[in-house]
Amino acid sequence: MALSVDDARLSDLSVGGWLGVGLAVLGIGIVATSAGEWLLSGADPIAGLVGGGFVALIGAALAHDNATPDEEGTCEHCGAHVRVHSSRDTADEAVLVRMSGRPRRISLGPVSVVAQRQTTEHLYCSGECASEDTRAVITSDDHQATAATAEVSQRVE
Ligand SMILES: [Zn+2]
Repeated sequence: MALSVDDARLSDLSVGGWLGVGLAVLGIGIVATSAGEWLLSGADPIAGLVGGGFVALIGAALAHDNATPDEEGTCEHCGAHVRVHSSRDTADEAVLVRMSGRPRRISLGPVSVVAQRQTTEHLYCSGECASEDTRAVITSDDHQATAATAEVSQRVE
């Protein structure tokens, strides 16, 4: 199916996502019914409009969140498009490297507080690219480097 919003594709929806779509449709139905009754019989439409709109909004948010990829971006080494989605049929793989370096500290007498934390995140299309990228080291001040931990998100059938 080609229908997509912000890269969220209808074909990527799981049961939870379809529940969201169902809620959205139900909410729109409530709004439409309230508006119809208001036009036909003059019944107060506020409760129906607000309630239905709320239900539709929640449903749409659920569906959109469900269809949005878990990780998406550009490989920081080779520039390939990286997209990992747990609802996708193909086995997508990406390497997300999160690092933290030594914090900047301020010492006030006996008290030492962290003034600035050094964290960074890199996304790669594969483990090869992650290890090829020598920029994947935080350098702060002089020569403080950190060990990188790779978190591999992979989908297995
Ligand atoms: Zn790459």
